[in-house]
Amino acid sequence: KSYTYQLFETVMKWADKYRKLGIRTNADSPAQAKSALLLGAEGIGLCRTEHMFFEGDRIDSMRRMILASDTAERKAALAELLPYQRSDFEGIFKAMDGHPVTIRLLDPPLHEFLPHDSAARNALAEKLGVSSEFVAERCNALKEQNPMLGHRGCRLGNSYPEITEMQARAIFEAVAKVMKGRKPVKVMPEVMVPLVGFVQELKFQVAIIHRVAAEVMKEKGVKFSYMVGTMIEIPRGAITADEIAEVADFFSFGTNDLTQTGLGMSRDDSGSFLGKYKELDILAKNPFASIDQAGIGQLVKIGVEKGRGVKPKLKIGVCGEHGGDPESIRFFNDVGLNYVSCSPPRVPVARLAAAQAAI
Ligand code: PEP
Ligand code: MG
Repeated sequence: KSYTYQLFETVMKWADKYRKLGIRTNADSPAQAKSALLLGAEGIGLCRTEHMFFEGDRIDSMRRMILASDTAERKAALAELLPYQRSDFEGIFKAMDGHPVTIRLLDPPLHEFLPHDSAARNALAEKLGVSSEFVAERCNALKEQNPMLGHRGCRLGNSYPEITEMQARAIFEAVAKVMKGRKPVKVMPEVMVPLVGFVQELKFQVAIIHRVAAEVMKEKGVKFSYMVGTMIEIPRGAITADEIAEVADFFSFGTNDLTQTGLGMSRDDSGSFLGKYKELDILAKNPFASIDQAGIGQLVKIGVEKGRGVKPKLKIGVCGEHGGDPESIRFFNDVGLNYVSCSPPRVPVARLAAAQAAI
């Protein structure tokens, strides 16, 4: 360890003595997980599974799954993705070596995985052995005017339960494998369902996840524990958090989407007027960088109070960008969250900010 790193660790340990918030990281790969651990992360608060589907050949299977005409075809494509996804999770569990890992089920609208220009669509048609017209027609059918408010999040897993089944199987088979490996690793997986606004959406997903967990335990002859929780990232989820808490083992606030849906401002397109709004003093800060305490923050508060009203010890974190912003961290400390989760380079910032907030 270099002298600088030793100094860094000393200062960080002083901060750790005071902070109440746990500090986790948003990481999708073993490399990211390892660097976050070195910076002091205590777990993964958000593993976004979608990035894994872009690598190498997987994107072909993913596209085959999306363009499938029926459930049988979709399941065949998902079966091709399963081993890839399982080995991704194995790598992450090994890197995290017993620290908790929150894995979020598929979230983005499916057209994000599809090619957009005709040359790429023709190449895909050739690869899949179907006509270019068929690919163009299916791609156009999947296009949405407002994709971020469309067919995404748990709406995917509820319309295509086989996606959730595959991802849950990949997670639990990876758990069984690392537990029984030559160098056994302790794992505490937390399966997270995105974009829940209605408790029934979560119930459907929880039932699939529990069924698959039981199947894998029986097949592999192992017993493991796991949790199933949800993101709270649309206002209805926060307002009905008491109903949702009945079915969830934990909550994680997705403040990027909660800000987007709560303020009715696109997280991708708001740049054009945010500068002017600051000038006019309508908004003091960019609400996507620092939590809007009087508005979105109150939704977080309602979510915490309603959730803990039902389950007093409910574990609650935040995994939106705000989890790495010192001013927002102070707010999350004050409303009693258990942890914040941020990108690896923000981990030391979060440790210091959490200590300052506690002091
Ligand atoms: C969020 O919405 O705050 C979140 C963490 O999820 P994503 O950014 O992937 O939508
Ligand atoms: Mg989100």
